[in-house]
Amino acid sequence: MNQNRNVNDENRLNDTRNRDIVVKMLNERGVELVEIAELTLDLQAKYIDGLTLEMCLDHVERVVMKREVQNAILTGLELDILAEKGHISEPLKSMLMNDYGLYGIDEVLALAIVNVYGSIGFTNFGYVDKLKPGVIKKIDDLGKEEGRCNTFLDDIVGAIAAAAASSIAHRFA
Ligand code: MG
Repeated sequence: MNQNRNVNDENRLNDTRNRDIVVKMLNERGVELVEIAELTLDLQAKYIDGLTLEMCLDHVERVVMKREVQNAILTGLELDILAEKGHISEPLKSMLMNDYGLYGIDEVLALAIVNVYGSIGFTNFGYVDKLKPGVIKKIDDLGKEEGRCNTFLDDIVGAIAAAAASSIAHRFA
């Protein structure tokens, strides 16, 4: 019993520590959580009266506390960074640096995030991926600059926004 509690406490501490790491990583890649919350508000405002940016930010914070989400962020952003540093071999290097349209693994990785709140997330993610609103457009434009790779970042940010929208939908259902 006691041992289980210690393990749970330790897991919670790890999740909090990793949350701080992934939030810092996102910031360093040019994304603030509030910009992700703006996407979530955009997705969900028409369905819920009185939904505020603060409420959306609260759900974004919950999403980045989940271990599967943290692992997907760590993996995707690391690949973008390694590609920029030239530490990835061909042919993957060119696919990542050019955000090759048929690569597809950036979207697949992002599904690990969307999955956390079930199937509503898929629709929301598809919508964000297609329309590229707000911060997604900014990420995409930055990614086209010489030496910059945002191949995973746009999908990860869209997926966090979609997962937060799903979390809100479940809460108010
Ligand atoms: Mg992408």
